[in-house]
Amino acid sequence: MLIVSEDTCKKVIGRADAFTAVESVFAAMASADAYNFPVIREAIGHADALYGFKSGFDKAGLTLGVKAGGYWPGNMKKGLTNHQSTVFLFDPDTGQLSALVGGNYLTAVRTAASSAISIAHLARKDAKVLGMVGAGHQAGFQLRAAAEQRNFEKVVAWNYHPDMLPALGKIAEEIGLPFEAVDREELGAQADVIISITSAHEPLMMKDWVKPGTHLACMGTDTQGKQEMDPALIASATLFTDEIAQSISLGETQHAITAGLITKDDITPIGAVINKDHPGRTSDEEITLFDGTGVGLQDLAVASVAAKLAQEKGEAQQVEL
Ligand code: NAD
Repeated sequence: MLIVSEDTCKKVIGRADAFTAVESVFAAMASADAYNFPVIREAIGHADALYGFKSGFDKAGLTLGVKAGGYWPGNMKKGLTNHQSTVFLFDPDTGQLSALVGGNYLTAVRTAASSAISIAHLARKDAKVLGMVGAGHQAGFQLRAAAEQRNFEKVVAWNYHPDMLPALGKIAEEIGLPFEAVDREELGAQADVIISITSAHEPLMMKDWVKPGTHLACMGTDTQGKQEMDPALIASATLFTDEIAQSISLGETQHAITAGLITKDDITPIGAVINKDHPGRTSDEEITLFDGTGVGLQDLAVASVAAKLAQEKGEAQQVEL
């Protein structure tokens, strides 16, 4: 059994590996070769924590496992990340535990890969301006991964807490992109691609602010009650997601579904586009919207690659159970 630490994950797995792993598992999900099991998420009544499991099996990639973890709001004060997770991988032929992999860095990397995949497959090829709504922990990972998908010339950004924007601006500077803090209406007027990655519970971007041809990757809404987009914007866009069941229950489309503006048949799994069973964007004027809800199979896919690379590079610790 291998143990792969957080530091080792950072050393061995980069954006390109994560992109390939997540793209493959999205494709497998769309062709019913991989499926996520029901998610468990519970308030444990201690330390104000939310704890749960995301698990699944990828028959194509032979990856079986579970991500266990959650959110401990008091961690920051202890010098720890509030989100904590660990991935357990099992041998699908025997059920034996094959690896324990730190899941915190991998969560950020797999979430950034998800929106980057949506940009690669759905954004206009001539997209020039990247709009960032949000500037928290995930936003920097999102920005770096997105910037590799198109020849962006500029980043425009808005955040609910403006004091967090300079740190995101620094990342834009590092990758050589001019950065401008703007209001949300201006962001919609300028951006060709918009990533939202906040913990908002009300619409941040309205339909009338988003120009034709925009691609949106909505990444923040991963729980019932959260919301980043105007339901009218959702209803006017061509909709894609990682998993339809999660999108309509806890993802960004939940509110448009409840309001009766769309049905689940209006949403396409992005794996169908990857598999070329769906054309994706069909015109330069169309607004495409990807609802990235975050599925367990993404975690298992990147953890499996991290374990393999760590073993190859002699960075994994081997123990007998
Ligand atoms: P964070 O705590 O580091 O940052 C939170 C962000 O939300 C900041 O930009 C903050 O200014 C903003 N924010 C806080 N309250 C707000 C409000 N009322 N209105 C608008 N913005 C507000 O969190 P993070 O780790 O960057 O995660 C951001 C979001 O992404 C969270 O909702 C998290 O659950 C979600 N997430 C989704 C996935 C996925 O796979 N889809 C994966 C990881 C995290």
